[in-house]
Amino acid sequence: MKQIKNKTLLASTLIEGKGLPVFNPFDNSLLATVPMSCQAKVEQDIIEMELGQKQWQKRSAAERCKLLKKWHQLIIENEDDLAMIITLEGGKPLKEALAEVRYGASFIEWFAEEGRRAYGNTIPSPSNDKTLLTVKQPIGVAAAITPWNFPFAMITRKAAPALAAGCSFICKPSELTPLSAFAVTELAFQAGIPKNVLRMVIGQSAHEVGEAFTYHPSVRKFSFTGSTLVGRKLQMQCASTIKRTSMELGGNAPFIVFDDADIDSAVKGAIASKFRNAGQTCVCSNRFYVQDGVYDEFVTKLVAAVDQLKVGNGLDAETDIGPVITQESKQRIVELIEEAKGRGAKQVNREQCLDGQFVAPTVLVDVEHDRPLVQGEIFGPVLPIIRFSEEEKMIEMANDTIYGLAAYFYSQNMNRIWRVAHNLEYGMVGINEGIISTEVAPFGGVKQSGNGREGAKEGLEEYLETKYVCIGGLD
Ligand code: NAP
Repeated sequence: MKQIKNKTLLASTLIEGKGLPVFNPFDNSLLATVPMSCQAKVEQDIIEMELGQKQWQKRSAAERCKLLKKWHQLIIENEDDLAMIITLEGGKPLKEALAEVRYGASFIEWFAEEGRRAYGNTIPSPSNDKTLLTVKQPIGVAAAITPWNFPFAMITRKAAPALAAGCSFICKPSELTPLSAFAVTELAFQAGIPKNVLRMVIGQSAHEVGEAFTYHPSVRKFSFTGSTLVGRKLQMQCASTIKRTSMELGGNAPFIVFDDADIDSAVKGAIASKFRNAGQTCVCSNRFYVQDGVYDEFVTKLVAAVDQLKVGNGLDAETDIGPVITQESKQRIVELIEEAKGRGAKQVNREQCLDGQFVAPTVLVDVEHDRPLVQGEIFGPVLPIIRFSEEEKMIEMANDTIYGLAAYFYSQNMNRIWRVAHNLEYGMVGINEGIISTEVAPFGGVKQSGNGREGAKEGLEEYLETKYVCIGGLD
């Protein structure tokens, strides 16, 4: 980790000898070893977070705002180091890692302010001897589990509203990418946020920490970002103590190009929404539907753009696509491609056979709608294209999935824009735009993509209880 200039970022995290090894997906070299906690220690941590929360909620919203803003400032001052850590442990190109740091930091700034607007209501009373009002209170200890694909931003997107609301926040980052999680936490401590208010833990297994977080009665809110498979299990575990949950789960985003689309803009949006983080984001477009009239033009222009993308080490400035996270991921993606090809799909862009954990960008046409590549999350740089004629049938295909996170479509017709946006069963719809996430808008899915929203005013509500107060006996 000699590339990191601010040595304090990881000083308390790295240990010699026994612990969790963290590898660089570019070349599988060992980056660091981090400490792991046993189950009893995680439970002890939860108790400490409960004590911390009781003190934290007594601080004024203005005071919490000040500390969060200081945290935000320290992140921006250290953004290059943080980006470097993200690239080293996750493989994404440095320019994307820097964008992730800024995106992640934006939630801290936003919720620092939003915490000061946790307004209750006064309610017109049905009788003159009573006053009715609501107040907003922090829900208590919040616990979270986050994935490797946005190892920095998926933490700040949850921690910032939790802390702003007056909750304490304990989190298990992915074992594959714990370093950026510990680094951003170190900066929070340097900003003055107490150690019993924000904590990262790595357990001896994800399963054990998951059990501690979901079964412990002192945890009142559980927030998860990860696969639908794991989220479903954790949601069931949370039922044992009736916890409030937010589940940010998998997606299967359709990307639709209508005859009346601006094709150059659609190609630009397709590249942005498909190949970010080597296709490993929950809102990456997963399947492309292109209408007859523009099919040839779109495919030709898309292939030309895809063949310009450079695959390589995330640390190289020209790299557009880094390695995928593990060798197993590569294997899974390659099998999906082969399976589709075995059923008639054809690759129309340049074929490259790459070593290591690299998967070359792959554009496939003549893909059948029922292939696993189209039905599940690819989580890799593969772009399957399906041709369509009628809008109504296409909407049926787009909605024919258990997922409902993000959808994208390109059209210049205002009637169609309203109609299609209304009919797509998704939590987020991008129209003539391939990148839609921002701290000011509610991020989240419907159906088995989860529940709850992150960012925006809705993001704060996830960490607040509404208490109704009735003052009676008034003259
Ligand atoms: P994952 O396998 O579900 O893992 C996510 C997190 O859960 C990791 O920290 C993992 O720990 C942990 N975990 C795994 N099994 C567990 C268990 N039995 N009990 C408790 N924790 C457990 O997902 P992933 O492969 O890391 O991430 C990719 C998935 O995340 C995709 O489906 C993607 O769509 C989704 N995602 C959704 C959003 C959103 O906002 N909707 C954003 C980003 C990603 P370890 O890694 O340490 O094993």
